[in-house]
Amino acid sequence: MIERVVGSGASEDEQKDEELQVTLRPKDFENYIGQERIKKNLLLAIAAAKKRGEPLDHVLLYGPPGLGKTTLANVIAHEMGAQIRVTSGPAIERAGDLASLLTNLQDGDILFIDEIHRLHRVVEEVLYSAMEDFKLDIMLGKGPSARSLRLDLPKFTIIGATTRTGALAAPLRDRFGMVHRLEFYDQNEIEKIIRRAAKILNVQMSDMGSAALLAQRSRLTPRIANRLLKRVRDYADVNGDGIIDVRIATDALALLEIDELGLDPADRLILAAIIDNYDGGPVGVETLAALTSEERQTIEDFIEPYLLQIGLLERTPRGRKATPKSYKHLGKNKPKGRQAKLI
Ligand code: ADP
Repeated sequence: MIERVVGSGASEDEQKDEELQVTLRPKDFENYIGQERIKKNLLLAIAAAKKRGEPLDHVLLYGPPGLGKTTLANVIAHEMGAQIRVTSGPAIERAGDLASLLTNLQDGDILFIDEIHRLHRVVEEVLYSAMEDFKLDIMLGKGPSARSLRLDLPKFTIIGATTRTGALAAPLRDRFGMVHRLEFYDQNEIEKIIRRAAKILNVQMSDMGSAALLAQRSRLTPRIANRLLKRVRDYADVNGDGIIDVRIATDALALLEIDELGLDPADRLILAAIIDNYDGGPVGVETLAALTSEERQTIEDFIEPYLLQIGLLERTPRGRKATPKSYKHLGKNKPKGRQAKLI
């Protein structure tokens, strides 16, 4: 089986990868590369909150995995001089779990909820009043003897992260004072991220070209840039003297089956399935999942956003379509009937 570099993080290497990502996480805005518009907005909001001596408004960060949502939450906490507690939507199983998290916070603390779109409905409802008035409504007991209790909470900030805002209930979304969508990075920014990571990890790159080459194939995503750097370094350690140059990087990427656009076999399989089985589409995501044995969520969260971003895929109300660029990239010819239609 091909181990995915793009992956969902569900592989056995997950733990090691997470350690790598934590090591490489920038701590402050100065080292947080790119996302300039979001940074500007947050800096202003942070300065204003500090001046008023109030906690920061709740922040919702959304965008594909690996673009830096968790990192940004930590940077915000650092800049606010606040403590950050980290949890995730599925980890908060009952309203009681949320109650204990919230009552243990202190004024000014930040609670980071990753995958906030996966919060259980009952938990989500408790969160509404907590976010709005810093009150916690809890029910004690059941049936006729049940009574509700209202507790005062410290003035905290929720930072929520999600790969899809569409999956968030409107009342929850509305309770965030700031909603920011993280964008894919440009190649220069990714190159900077790779150089910074190489410095921290003590990896030597002997020429200018190798960082650019890795940047080109990192799907415009910092998490993947970090992973590729690590893989290529491993390759350089085994097959050379540990120093990365263009030749080593090219060979290592070929071994990983990552092509010049950063696509791996799973990406190419998806595109080929649309082209070969459905004349280029449209194809529904469920059908694509069945055809390629990928989970629907993996397609929607990990594979599709980048393919859409670089124009290899188009999303229409009737499903996903391959674009002329993706025919070209895979070296496939458009079916005749289709060409006729296009003329
Ligand atoms: P997300 O929470 O969106 O999945 P992360 O915050 O975990 O993404 O980011 C993955 C890794 O990418 C981080 O550990 C960090 O090393 C790196 N990273 C993310 N954003 C940036 C950035 N703006 N500048 C430098 N490195 C970044």
